Amino acid sequence: MAEGGLKDDEYWRDKLSPEEYRVCREKGTEPPFSGALYQHSETGTYHCRCCGEALFDSTSKYDAGCGWPSFSEASEKGRIVETLDTSHGMRRTEITCARCNSHLGHVFTDGPAPTGLRYCVNSVSLSFERDGDKE
Ligand SMILES: [Zn+2]
Repeated sequence: MAEGGLKDDEYWRDKLSPEEYRVCREKGTEPPFSGALYQHSETGTYHCRCCGEALFDSTSKYDAGCGWPSFSEASEKGRIVETLDTSHGMRRTEITCARCNSHLGHVFTDGPAPTGLRYCVNSVSLSFERDGDKE
């Protein structure tokens, strides 16, 4: 299988912690106000926990008060896939990593201008890279 492509469950169970696996691969949700990146405000880039793709810049991160890291836009449009999610009796738009299919969270339309979007993302779905720390 190609590097960065779709992997099987066994690969992810091995690579991820049980909580990361539950959220990223089984579309779980971490408890609000619990995530390591919720109050995080350093300058840098937020990457997909599973495949390392850059998904959000710290410049678009803001505190929506909802208990999860929130962003007003994706770092690049094609990197995040939006899918209608009707689970739990709600109509929401699920967001996943375009490269590895990892569940990230949901996007809502009550965000700040100019996008009006709120990407509500689980901390465990992300890994942070500070500016200047690039390999
Ligand atoms: Zn990914």
